[in-house]
This record gives sequence, structure tokens and C-alpha cells, in this order.
Amino acid sequence: QTNYSYGSSKKSLGTRRGPNNRFVPPVLNKENDSEFGARSGPASATSGLSSTKEESAPTDVRLKGIEPKIIELITNEIMDHRPQMDWEDIAGLQFAKKTIKEIVVWPMLRPDIFTGLRGPPKGLLLFGPPGTGKTLIGKCIASQSKSTFFCISASSLTSKWVGEGEKMVRALFAVARCHQPAVIFIDEVDSLLSQRSDGEHEASRRIKTEFLVQLDGATTESDDGILVIGATNRPQEIDEAARRRFVKRLYIPLPELVARQHIVTRLMAKQHCQLDEADVATIGHHTQGYSGADMANLCREAALGPIRSIPFEQIETIRPDQVPPITMSDFEAALLQVRPSVSAKDLDLYIDWNNTYGSFG
Ligand code: ADP
Repeated sequence: QTNYSYGSSKKSLGTRRGPNNRFVPPVLNKENDSEFGARSGPASATSGLSSTKEESAPTDVRLKGIEPKIIELITNEIMDHRPQMDWEDIAGLQFAKKTIKEIVVWPMLRPDIFTGLRGPPKGLLLFGPPGTGKTLIGKCIASQSKSTFFCISASSLTSKWVGEGEKMVRALFAVARCHQPAVIFIDEVDSLLSQRSDGEHEASRRIKTEFLVQLDGATTESDDGILVIGATNRPQEIDEAARRRFVKRLYIPLPELVARQHIVTRLMAKQHCQLDEADVATIGHHTQGYSGADMANLCREAALGPIRSIPFEQIETIRPDQVPPITMSDFEAALLQVRPSVSAKDLDLYIDWNNTYGSFG
């Protein structure tokens, strides 16, 4: 796996929580009551109970038979209650954002009017080069649809949780069912659904089978408010059966000129910086082929420029307001260091796959 030169959080379970976060049991508490109240189902059997004491709280029936240890892990490491994000935080991708708002977010917000033919797809595949905002989109969908966000990288299921992966998958969907509406974001979903079966380990085959069972459950159970989003940099490795389960398949391309400028402007807005519009335009023109993550790396590298100009012995004592501003020459130096991470050849593969299997509306 070479895709993770950025975003340290994705190396793990995709956790957005620190190890010290308090364990919130996946049982009904006051905060959850209103969420559950909106939907019928087994949850309503327990939602009347107002106990919030961890030791005495009743466990949701849907979690029966699932090891508490795994439930705790999912709740602590994989679950993010209502992440705060706005569409404006994602540069470019107008087509994907518009489509997602219409077919996913509105129906999740108003399940009562988006029924039947207007019902949301339960499976969404986001594909494209690494670092183009697929995870950001997943998070934004959860935020904007007021859902609980579960984010897990498929490779962690097969590598990190050797022997437990299958249980993790089952538990993940069970916990999500208790926290509806929920968005389950599976990064690197290709590694779960790949068509290469020779030499496949028994364990990963079992994880795959369990995932397909759960995916089918979540995507056909119309009452469940669960959206499964798969993200992949290798869509061509997903086999046909799995592909069909992701009804909507959206291409998330590299950022265009305006989007690249937007990323620089937004990141620099929080810094002491001396770039004018013409500088930002120049940076945009020099970053053709850069992904969003490459742009963020470029800004990070440029931001270190002024720090590097400070003599080492002054680092300990210098006041923040004495640090020189980030200038165009810092970007010029950074452009030599940070190069685009996606090759033109790879891009052609995505475009081909999009033409064959992508959704255009
Ligand atoms: P992936 O497509 O691999 O899931 P991510 O969504 O994790 O990529 O993006 C990684 C980082 O790159 C983000 O945290 C953000 O800093 C930057 N980034 C990528 N795409 C965009 C975008 N469209 N707008 C703003 N930032 C972006």
C-alpha cells in the first residue's frame, strides 16, 4: 500500500478520536433517544429507558452475541458522532457534491418524503486517485445528513485484525444499526472486494463473505438508515458482483485549477501569509496534476519555509509574531520538493473505468 503518504489518521482504523476518549457505550442514552425515536424498529423497545449508567444500561438487542470488547473498540476507534464539516470545506468536485446532495443527503434528512423510487441508494462507491477528497466527502455526507460516521480502512480488517476481521465487520454493522442514521465509510474497499481469489487466505475470504452479507442486509433492508460508502483508488479490482451492490459510482477526479487555488487560499487563510491573488493564481498554474493531498502537502512544506529561516538558537525563544510570513518564494521552494503523486497513466485508467461503470447523474 503506497497510498498513505498523508493523513496519518487513515493508517489506523480511520479513527478521528484519540485513545483517551471516554468510552460511550452503544446503548441508548439521552442524546440518542431522539435519533432512535424518529425510527421504528427494535430500538424503540429500549429507547424508553432513560438509564445512562454504563454498567446498568440495557444492551440493544441488535448487539446480542457480539463481544463487548469489539463493540467498545468500534465505538471508540471507528465511530464519530456528527462530524462537523461543510461542503465548502471540499474544493471543486461540483458534480459529485451536487449529485450527492440530491440523491443521498436530502433523502437521509427527509426519509419520509424520499420513499420508494425516490429512496436513497444504500451503496455508494467513490473512486479516483488517492488524496482527492473521498474521505472528506464521506465525512461531509455524515455531517450534513446528521448521521453517525463510521470510518474503517478495509486493509486494517485484513491485516490488523487478523482472525477478528469477520467479527469486526459484523459488529460494525450492528453498532451502526444502533446509531441510525449512519454512514459506514470503508476506505480501500477494493481490498475487501477484489476479484483476485488465487492464493487468497481463508481468513480474508471469510471477511469478504461477511462483508457482502452485511452489505446486502444494509442495502436491501429499506427501513435501515444506513448508507455504505466504499472508497477506492483501484476500482478495476472490484469484481462484478460487488460492483453491482454499489448502485451509485462517482468519479472523484483530481482538483482543477480553481479547486487547487481554493485549497491554497483556505489553508493559507489560517496562516501569517503574504500571498496575493496573482501568487495564488501562479501556484494554481504550476500544480497541474496535483491531488488535493499533494496541495495540502505543498502548503505544509511552504509553511515550514519561514521557520527554516530562523536561526536554530532562536527557535526556543522567538515570539509567534516574530516568525516571518509565508511568501511566494517559500512556495517556489516547496514546488521543487512536493511533486504530483498521481501519474498520467493512472488517470487514464480512472477515466476509462468511469466511462464504463461510472454514474453520471
Ligand atoms: P482520499 O480521496 O484518499 O480519501 P482524503 O479525502 O483523505 O483523500 O484527502 C486527504 C487530504 O487531502 C485531506 O485531508 C485534505 O487536506 C486534502 N484534500 C484532498 N482533496 C481535497 C479537496 N477536494 N478539497 C480540499 N482538500 C482536499
